[in-house]
Amino acid sequence: MRINVNQVSFEGVVFEETISPGSLDLDTEIVKFCKPLQVRVEACRVSNVISAHLVISSEILFQCSRCLNEFKNEFNKEIQLDYPFDSSVRYIDLDPDIREEIIMDYPIKPLCVAKCKGLCVKCGKNLNEGGCNCGST
Ligand SMILES: [Zn+2]
Ligand SMILES: [Zn+2]
Repeated sequence: MRINVNQVSFEGVVFEETISPGSLDLDTEIVKFCKPLQVRVEACRVSNVISAHLVISSEILFQCSRCLNEFKNEFNKEIQLDYPFDSSVRYIDLDPDIREEIIMDYPIKPLCVAKCKGLCVKCGKNLNEGGCNCGST
């Protein structure tokens, strides 16, 4: 997402854009965005700085690190970014910072529920769906 510096006034201006997760290279093995990112930017000019307040929303499909089931969570994040600029700068590209801010929040081990019981190490049964017989023999 690029902001045209000339369009940013001292009073502030709003930009809205839909960004595909693929264009930001956001997906990993355990984190997949299942909706485009809705990005709303409120930008204003403060002396030689463009101050941008971003609100980003989407939906993520995670894979639980214990039971391997997939589960969805809403994604909502607000970001404040400041870009110093001079007269040679015409556009500001927000994508690298958006990507970094999003990836920073990825869980190392996502869990479908905090008390996920995971899979039985012997038979592989999902223990959230009830016990297996391995332990009782
Ligand atoms: Zn789980
Ligand atoms: Zn078992």
